[in-house]
Amino acid sequence: MGDAIRELEELGRQAATCTACRLAGNRTNVVFGVGDSQADVMLVGEGPGYHEDQQGEPFVGRSGKLLDRLLGEIGLSRSEVYIGNVVKCRPPGNRDPLEDEIEACKGYLRRQLELIQPRVVVTLGNFASKLLLRTDTGITRLRGRAYPWWHRHLVPTFHPAAALRGGERVVARMREDFAVVADLLAAPDAPPPDDAPDEAGEPSQLELFR
Ligand code: SF4
Repeated sequence: MGDAIRELEELGRQAATCTACRLAGNRTNVVFGVGDSQADVMLVGEGPGYHEDQQGEPFVGRSGKLLDRLLGEIGLSRSEVYIGNVVKCRPPGNRDPLEDEIEACKGYLRRQLELIQPRVVVTLGNFASKLLLRTDTGITRLRGRAYPWWHRHLVPTFHPAAALRGGERVVARMREDFAVVADLLAAPDAPPPDDAPDEAGEPSQLELFR
C-alpha cells in the first residue's frame, strides 16, 4: 500500500473522532469520503444529509442512485471515483455549513485533494461550487464548462437532490456537465491548466477557500 493511501486512511481515522466544530454534537457518523484513493475524478458535495449521516457514506439514497447513473453513463462506477464533502458531519436540518465550520473542516478536504491528486474535481451543487471557485455566481450560470483550479480542472454541476426536485430538465444539464468530465478524461495527456494568479499572488495548495 502506498504512503498516500495509508495517509488517507489515517486521516479518515482522525476525522472519525474529530470534535473541532459544533457539527460533532449531532452527528451519527462522520462521513469522510469513499472511493478510489488514486481516482482521476473527485466529486465534492456540501455536507452529509440524513441518510449519509446514518450510513456514514456520501450520496446514498435517491441522490446517490442518480449520481451513480450519471457516472455510469460516462463509463465510471462509484468505486472508480472518490466522493466527499466540504464538511464531514451533517449540519442540522440540512442547512448550509457555517463559515467557522468550513474553516474547522477544510484541512481534511485539502489533504484529501493533495493525497488523491484527482485530475478533475466535480463540485455538486451551488454551495460547493461557489465556495471552491470563490465566486458569488450561482450554479446555473457557472455550470456547463471546466475551470482551471489549483492546477487541475473543476467542473461545477447541480446537486443530485436539486435534479431530483427539478426533474429531467435539470438531469439533462447534469448529463451535459458529466460529458465535460468525460471529454477531459479522454485527453489524459493534456497538461493540467494553469491558474491565473489571484490577488494574493501564486495560488497555493494551502489556501483552498476564501
Ligand atoms: Fe470535525 Fe469537520 Fe466534523 Fe467539524 S464537520 S467535527 S471539523 S470532521
